[in-house]
Amino acid sequence: MKVLVINCGSSSLKYQLFNMEDNSVLAKGLVERIGLEVGMLKHQPINNNKVEVSEKIPNHRVAVKMMLDALLDKNHGVVKNISEISAVGHRVVHGAEKFSDSVKITDEVMDVLKECVAIAPLHNPPNIIGIEAARDMLPDVPMVGVFDTAFHQTMPNYAYMYGVPYELYEKYSVRRYGFHGTSHRFVSAEAAKMLEKSIEELNIITLHLGNGSSITAVKNGKSVENSMGFTPLEGIIMGTRCGNIDPAIVPFIMEQEGISPDQMNNYLNKKCGVYGISGVSSDFRDLEDAAKNGNTRAELALKMFSYQAKKFIGSYVAAMNGLDAIVFTGGIGENSITMRQMICEDMDYFGIKIDEQKNHVRGKKADISLEDTKTKILVIPTNEELMIALDTVSLVKTA
Ligand code: ADP
Repeated sequence: MKVLVINCGSSSLKYQLFNMEDNSVLAKGLVERIGLEVGMLKHQPINNNKVEVSEKIPNHRVAVKMMLDALLDKNHGVVKNISEISAVGHRVVHGAEKFSDSVKITDEVMDVLKECVAIAPLHNPPNIIGIEAARDMLPDVPMVGVFDTAFHQTMPNYAYMYGVPYELYEKYSVRRYGFHGTSHRFVSAEAAKMLEKSIEELNIITLHLGNGSSITAVKNGKSVENSMGFTPLEGIIMGTRCGNIDPAIVPFIMEQEGISPDQMNNYLNKKCGVYGISGVSSDFRDLEDAAKNGNTRAELALKMFSYQAKKFIGSYVAAMNGLDAIVFTGGIGENSITMRQMICEDMDYFGIKIDEQKNHVRGKKADISLEDTKTKILVIPTNEELMIALDTVSLVKTA
């Protein structure tokens, strides 16, 4: 069975085609700069050369068509007939309280997804456009939606409510939702496998550290806390997002700088974080290089990031009353030896002791804790696409 996974952003479409006999990737690619003057398709068949096509890609329908043409192409394609694609799994950012699991996409589900746009105006519209385009182009293929928020629907109400009047929750669904759920679900399950224990008996903290970063407390296989909130802006300081700040700063800056709510939202999402602090970059490789060369603001940004991650770990030990393992994933978590070292430093009170030698690893599964320490420190590359493909298979098979 072959399953296509689609992750649609406002001007891009990422895809992977899986062979579910062995969970292998047959091809993956990216259509970018959709709607701009010149767009680009990058298609990588797994046993063939990469193909790049540069032309105007006016909308997502055209992007879906280009992806299908690439998958079917007689030179660099990986399927002979479109009917070989048995199902499509779509990443959807926000499922609000409507979706606590992945779901087979129907007209009714599309209506509910559109209702969710009110609380996720930045993230859900491109996902919906992508699903609609794929449904138009592949009308007979079953499709599944997999939500970043779904895994966190097990958070208790005292964890997800904000200290604002209850009516705001009733009227506008204002609460914490948590994000990156597909990644946290995947790596926590993988961690249990690595530890050869049932996930039901483990307290795990998963750190998904990338351009967007979030940290989750997974107690007995269920998310009980995630550092992100109503939107992915809350939590630890990120590449360009501010993370937790005193909310009074928001109206203060708006007044001082004379900027609108929209401009302020953009500012907090795009101009802040380690980029805003360092003035150097949002990329941790650049920050680590700059810090090594004596840039004190880059050093400060890295220190803020590691310190805030430490504080989340501490608070999640309290939330779960225990800790068996912490898991590093995402671009930074999988690759930054320095950042893992900084986060694990002086954490022996929690049984966290990193093995400096074993920590010299990038992009592959590893146990980097010192032998005989209480808490295991694991590096586990995330694979949200595979998780989406697996959910898609199980829902299509049970339908
Ligand atoms: P996204 O949230 O966009 O999916 P990723 O999870 O791919 O992002 O993470 C991207 C980030 O990973 C980059 O911005 C960079 O900071 C970081 N990164 C990747 N490789 C390294 C590395 N070798 N050392 C330090 N940081 C790295």
